[in-house]
Amino acid sequence: MARPTIILFDIDGTLVLTGGAGRRAMERACGVLLGDPRACAAFTMAGMTDRAIVRRACQAAGKADHPELLDQMIDAYLAVLPDELARSTAFRILAGGHSLITKLSTYRHIAVGLGTGNVRRGAAHKLGHAGLWSATTFGGFGCDAEDRGTLIRRGAERGAAQLGMPLADCRVIVVGDTLFDIQAAASNQFLCVAVATGGATAVDLTTGGADYVATSLEDPGILEFLLL
Ligand SMILES: [Mg+2]
Repeated sequence: MARPTIILFDIDGTLVLTGGAGRRAMERACGVLLGDPRACAAFTMAGMTDRAIVRRACQAAGKADHPELLDQMIDAYLAVLPDELARSTAFRILAGGHSLITKLSTYRHIAVGLGTGNVRRGAAHKLGHAGLWSATTFGGFGCDAEDRGTLIRRGAERGAAQLGMPLADCRVIVVGDTLFDIQAAASNQFLCVAVATGGATAVDLTTGGADYVATSLEDPGILEFLLL
């Protein structure tokens, strides 16, 4: 019998590109609560969890990053995210993701979920906009933990529960586009399939220790690796 398998998909740069909508929503939240929309302009958000992003923005604006302010910033971000998604002319669903998830979902030994730094509501907005939200039923999210390795672990535990198997008996694979996805997988002794559709190049991802690297989710080798 095939080994129980849990697959956790990252969102930004892996399944979709929001065309800057996520960043613009964060900038609006920074403007409202920090008085400085540029507070999050100086760093790349790729691979960061939502809470790590708002914490870093607070620090950049010289504000104390107390938990209440971080919660308020995430709420402010979520309040404007649908509007920014609707207005984003460069929003793209990355090729191959939908068909890969659909194929994987036909295997009874596989649980297909998300492993993303987005808080759950943000993930729902972004994937809902792409028509992909209903394709997965569980995940590890930015609201589970600020640390990516911890939220990936949470997603894997939910996947194991869905399969009705102990996590230790499951093969877990993170699918993402940044070195942070690779590190989060490695910190849990999970595998990582990396796609060069976000910021990082295939060479970066290979050097970073990904177990399989592809230029896009259309690479047929990904399905082969996931089913191994
Ligand atoms: Mg990503």
